[in-house]
Amino acid sequence: MTTISDLATAGGVVRREDVGYDEARRVYNAMIDRHPMAIASCRTVGDVRAVLAEARRSGLPVAVRGGGHSGPGFGVVDDGLVIDLSPMAAVEVDAAGRTARVQGGATVRELDAATGAHGLATPAGVVGSTGIGGLTLGGGHGYLSRKYGLTIDNLLSAEVVLADGRVVTASEDEHPDLFWAIRGGGGNFGIVTSFTLRLHPVSDVFCGPTAWPAAATADVLQWYRDFLPAQHEDLYGFFVTMTVPPVAPFPEPFHLHKACAIVWCYTGDPDDAADAVAPVRELQPAWDGTGVAPYPALQGMFDALLPSGLQWYWRGDLFREIPDAAVEAHSRFGDEAPTPLSQMHIYPVDGAVHRVGSDETAWGHRDVNFSQVIVGVDPDPSNAPVITKWAKDYHDAVHLYSVGGAYVNFMMDEGRDRVQASYGANYDRLVEIKNTYDPDNTFRINQNIRPTAA
Ligand code: FAD
Repeated sequence: MTTISDLATAGGVVRREDVGYDEARRVYNAMIDRHPMAIASCRTVGDVRAVLAEARRSGLPVAVRGGGHSGPGFGVVDDGLVIDLSPMAAVEVDAAGRTARVQGGATVRELDAATGAHGLATPAGVVGSTGIGGLTLGGGHGYLSRKYGLTIDNLLSAEVVLADGRVVTASEDEHPDLFWAIRGGGGNFGIVTSFTLRLHPVSDVFCGPTAWPAAATADVLQWYRDFLPAQHEDLYGFFVTMTVPPVAPFPEPFHLHKACAIVWCYTGDPDDAADAVAPVRELQPAWDGTGVAPYPALQGMFDALLPSGLQWYWRGDLFREIPDAAVEAHSRFGDEAPTPLSQMHIYPVDGAVHRVGSDETAWGHRDVNFSQVIVGVDPDPSNAPVITKWAKDYHDAVHLYSVGGAYVNFMMDEGRDRVQASYGANYDRLVEIKNTYDPDNTFRINQNIRPTAA
């Protein structure tokens, strides 16, 4: 029988006494400081099964880590085992069939590089180091979502290691209940060792930010909330309040000034882009950083500004509308952002996202138009309290305009009621499927859907 002391994987196991332990237990958010018994790097499905079996045998809690980007740090657990999928990052593209088979530990950057080489892409997040694993299982939105939906709307099938060690395929035809649940239900139902995703032709796009001084935040946000939902799905733009980073290509006169911006991506013919964004010119942006770029370059545009190892505290919510009172709060809290990296983003989740019914996947809010995240960020641990307080106070000020729930990937560890609100009418079905596939709650280090018996 394997025990923790002789547990071995092809990727290697790092234990508390080993050199490299502190590096191996680190996740993206440096506010998370947990001490697992061991971190097991997995290269194969066999590795994953072996570590899972040992966790079950020993009764240790198990955390599954894809890209490690979870705000609450669900990729690491105190006194338990970490199944680190990062060595499983291969992406195989079938260009003719327009699909990609993506291993469970791949990042957005790895996916975009592989598909971009064929002029293909699928909706995913806007920062390259984010894991496809957690992103997809929670839903996944990005620049292509108005046109092609959430990442889960492009999921064709998944290979899943279940809590009892079986390896199954989840698709419309095989284990359709599991397939429904993993499209939004997070890592609650098993460990996904590969995702097969539908791809779309996407090559050069018209993209980049237009920015205004913070004094214009209310006017620009009011314009944005009215303008974008009425536009063709080729046009995407997410709204940001921020402090202008003191680096190129941001113009020097704006460095370290508070600002608001819209980051655009137009996937129609680049020759038509000028017409598509013409109305924004009437708002006279103080800086226009738009131009034509290969889609993977847009995807990597902000990566250098958000390296691993910063303190993060975030709060999310989903909104049908952004009323004037919320606009006023955004303007005020944008002005009060406590550190230069603290930001607020509003992502559109309309267009193709609305063409899937609220009960067709676990993502339960297909009628919302905006997914918002407030992120307090700073390199200095001594600023953790101030960024946390700002994000919480800001969230309290705008939460009442939301549908009550959030995108689960933009939540901290906020308790069962918040998880339930985020799944809405789909929650009870998720509990039933959890009862079938993970009745002991082996997979509980996540936005947990608690099975009835646990
Ligand atoms: P991890 O911390 O590794 O995992 C998160 C959760 O998923 C954990 O519960 C983990 O157990 C589970 N999990 C991960 N992989 C697997 C797997 N293969 N099988 C089973 N369970 C698994 N989201 C968007 O939708 N769009 C964005 O544009 C976007 N931008 C972001 C930018 C930044 C800088 C950050 C920090 C986050 C962003 N997010 C975005 C949120 C992101 O989707 C979540 O943080 C997500 O959880 C990241 O997944 P991960 O694999 O990197 O995280």
